[in-house]
Amino acid sequence: MSSTTREWQALDRAHYLHPFTDHQALGEEGSRVITRAEGVYIHDSEGRRLLDGMAGLWCVNLGYGRRELAEVAAEQLRELPYYNSFFKTTHPPAVRLAEKLCALAPDHVNRVFFTGSGSEANDTALRMVRHYWALKGKPRKQVVIARDNAYHGSTVAGMSLGGMAPMQGQGGPGVPGIVHVPQPYWFGEGRERTPAAFGRECAAALEAKILELGEENVAAFIAEPVQGAGGAIIPPDSYWPEVRAVLARYDILLVVDEVICGFGRLGEWFGSQHYGLQPDLMPIAKGLSSGYLPIGGVLVSDRVAETLIEAGGEFFHGFTYSGHPVCAAVALKNLELLEAEGVVERVRDDLGPYLAERWTRLATHPLVGEARSLGLIGALELVADKASGRRFDKALAVGNLCRDLSLEAGLVMRSVGDTLIISPPLVITRDQIDELVTRARRALDEAARRLTAVDHGPSVGRVS
Ligand SMILES: *Cc1c(COP(=O)(O)O)cnc(C)c1O
Repeated sequence: MSSTTREWQALDRAHYLHPFTDHQALGEEGSRVITRAEGVYIHDSEGRRLLDGMAGLWCVNLGYGRRELAEVAAEQLRELPYYNSFFKTTHPPAVRLAEKLCALAPDHVNRVFFTGSGSEANDTALRMVRHYWALKGKPRKQVVIARDNAYHGSTVAGMSLGGMAPMQGQGGPGVPGIVHVPQPYWFGEGRERTPAAFGRECAAALEAKILELGEENVAAFIAEPVQGAGGAIIPPDSYWPEVRAVLARYDILLVVDEVICGFGRLGEWFGSQHYGLQPDLMPIAKGLSSGYLPIGGVLVSDRVAETLIEAGGEFFHGFTYSGHPVCAAVALKNLELLEAEGVVERVRDDLGPYLAERWTRLATHPLVGEARSLGLIGALELVADKASGRRFDKALAVGNLCRDLSLEAGLVMRSVGDTLIISPPLVITRDQIDELVTRARRALDEAARRLTAVDHGPSVGRVS
């Protein structure tokens, strides 16, 4: 390892508290230092080039190194680096981005509230749905129904809406008035039923929860079209149509968290369009700027926006960086490039089906219990016994082993327990998809070899 890398690692260890990180483990192993990137590849300080199967953190939809985005940022920094849009002011980049987003969004969505991140977008959505019902003269309609194992961000509201037990176990109580219903995770929780029956069952659990709470107390249901951080969980085909039918029977709002599924991931501009959903609010972030600068927002339906506006008075909510001009200019250029280059259609018509065909071939691997994908998001379920689908002993941390071996093979995948996830940049080519699948298979083969060895004595080591 080079002395520069060692120096970065030492400073990192000494001063940098990372997000979602076990610092003891990190201290022992040292950070991987990423220094530059282009297209679908990242480079580390040791000169290794890795295929970024995660698009950064589900966000670099347009790929790395786009000069157009750098140039528009530089121009905007020179022209107007910052101004707010509080107190009856606005500026061209935020206005143009708002117009563009509403043109891409479903017809009943014509307004956007800007935030700095996806977490802030979900905080905004939570406050907005409750404020909406108060304005409607129904201040008791306050409870938000979310799902187990959902991810809606890391702020207090984001964590509370999310359904991740480890997060909820830290940092004290969350926001009151949020309840959770089962997630449509067939491989993990529903395999005694058919996927179709399990999807219906999860939708029925939502309806049961609405009835238990009383419709008059329920403000909204929030969900990701496909759960991302929870494990790239693609619901059974029956799930969303049944949920739609349930929601149609009650007067509660639908918040569709588009932070990952938005901007082409599922082959439509929004995951809601893929599943035919009519959301009242759509939190967005990540792919909005392809991650080049931090920006998020909430797309607001006419129903909610008109109530907020017509009721008069102020919504006491907003962020210093709401609609930040440089972030907005970069986001707008990102959307224009995605559109001009036909990226979203290519995911739908070519790359999504191609990935599905290649990725599902991994299902024949002895370690893989299920290989699934939709658009350019995919997952592998790792199992100890293929026939029964029995999982590995958690202590073996087989998911982490495969993730580390995948890095060795030159591919960034992510592990969530014993589920491996990919979510590559949307500009990936067919050849690069082949490369991704080949590297994933190499990692699985090596993991299988080590796990077989473990039966005969040697321990499964962490990959250094
Ligand atoms: C990442 C994510 C968030 C949080 O976004 P941040 O920008 O990290 O605050 C919210 N919802 C979903 C579905 C996400 O994947």
